[in-house]
Parts: sequence; structure tokens; C-alpha cells
Amino acid sequence: PRTAETRSGPRVLAVANQKGGVAKTTTVASLGVAMAQRGAHVLLVDLDPQASLTFSLGVDPEELDLSVRDVLVGSKSVQDVILVTDEAVHLLPATIELAQTEETLASMTGREQRLRVALEQVADDYDWILLDCPPSLGVLTAAALTAPTDLLIPLQCETLAHRGVGQLLDTVHDVRAFTNPDLSVIGVLPTAYDGRTRHARAVLEAITESYGLEVVEPPIPRTVRFAEAPAYGRSILQTAATHRGAIAYRDVADRLLAST
Ligand code: ADP
Ligand code: MG
Repeated sequence: PRTAETRSGPRVLAVANQKGGVAKTTTVASLGVAMAQRGAHVLLVDLDPQASLTFSLGVDPEELDLSVRDVLVGSKSVQDVILVTDEAVHLLPATIELAQTEETLASMTGREQRLRVALEQVADDYDWILLDCPPSLGVLTAAALTAPTDLLIPLQCETLAHRGVGQLLDTVHDVRAFTNPDLSVIGVLPTAYDGRTRHARAVLEAITESYGLEVVEPPIPRTVRFAEAPAYGRSILQTAATHRGAIAYRDVADRLLAST
């Protein structure tokens, strides 16, 4: 782990899992807003062509002329694309055009390094940069894992939840070997967790034991509040600040802030 003396610039945290629907986007939005509410300067980066993070922060991706795509292909500087949201976090948004970017980047030099290099331009502006990854292990996820020092893996504790974890850790291994030796895995964050079921606890135990991963506490409880919040373009931290789901994310955010 880095110490205060060796650390420079923001903490960059990638939230990744190639499985869809495990609460990557919810986690990025909720942790980001919780950190901003504690006074941190936070940038959220939407790397998913579905642009759910962008949408959930009250920005309509279809109305945008510029997105993270323009930054990755090098046609715009990151400062030109960052938006200020109503949630006190800054956003490097996605649009649907990001879907072709994976292909475009594949033939571009330095594809895995482009996000890291772009984010260096705003390193002095932020304490935390959170990256919302797409549900794949392609170039965009590789770029995200090359930018950050830390990886957080949200996980729903279902029977087949761990099928993808090994693959993700293989990618981590490759990223460490080739593009980012400092990449560290913070651990798995259980999301939509129902601790009353023995099943959920058993799956979590199996995953942590097989892969030697830490479990980030507290687990995020399963609640319909999370499905409702993005429809208002606001996170649960704003719409239901005292809800146990909001409290859980705030606790995780406090742990991350304290770990700096
Ligand atoms: P991903 O980004 O991994 O695809 P999302 O964050 O978009 O996942 O979440 C997928 C769905 O699960 C969304 O409808 C979201 O509202 C819902 N969800 C997220 N967290 C929870 C939770 N703790 N309890 C219940 N539903 C949740
Ligand atoms: Mg998502």
C-alpha cells in the first residue's frame, strides 16, 4: 500500500466486473456522491457505452456533443469534456458512440495508456477518480485498470457469481505484468446482499476463499430503492439519505477515504 509520502495525485478506483447487473454503476454513483458529501473532490468516469452512470446523474447522453470517447481518441482534452452535475461530483460522460470506440482503439497506439495519460491532466483537481467499467474485459476495462491503483469488484452473491471472478483476476494479472504493476485489488463488495440467506453467505465465503480476496464491509443490502433513484437522475444518497442502502455506501466510502 502507498503511504502519504509516496502518494501523489488522486486515488483512482476502477469498479469492474465483466458481469452486467452487479451494481457497478450504482456503486460508482453512490460512493462518488458519498465522498463528495464528505468534502472530497470527485470525478466519475463513465466507460460504459450504455451510459447508465451519465444518465443516473441527471445528464441525458443523447444531448451531449462530447464524451469520454473524444478524450480516448485524442480529439479533445479532458477538461473540455468534464461536466459538473447536480450531485456535487464531476462527470466525464459516456454516449452510445463509445460502443465503436473499443474497435477504434484496438488499432491505436497506446490504447491502454490513453485514459491514464488523459487523467494526468486533471490530477491536481481531484482527490478521487472513480471509473465505471463496461460489462466486458475489452480495451476499455484494460484502460481503466491501467489508469488506477485500485480495483473494487462488486459482486452479487448468486450461485454462478464467481464464474467470472477468475477471468477478471487473470486480466488483473496481465495488467500488472504489462501496463500497471501497481494495480491492487481492494476486494469484493457484496451488492444486493441478503445476509439472511445462508446461500448468499456461502457464495461469499467460497469466493473469498478460492481467490484470496478481501470482502469490503459493510455489504450493500438488497433494496428496491436503488432501482428507483436513477429514474430521478439522483442517487439514493440524495433521494433516501437515511435509507440503510445509503448508509451502507456511506460507510464503505468512509473506509475508502480513511484508507488514503
Ligand atoms: P451494472 O453497472 O453492474 O450493470 P447497475 O448498477 O446498473 O449494475 O445495477 C443493475 C440493477 O440492479 C439496477 O436496476 C440497479 O438499480 C439494481 N441494484 C443495484 N444495487 C442494488 C441493490 N443493492 N439492491 C437492489 N437492486 C440493486
Ligand atoms: Mg453499469
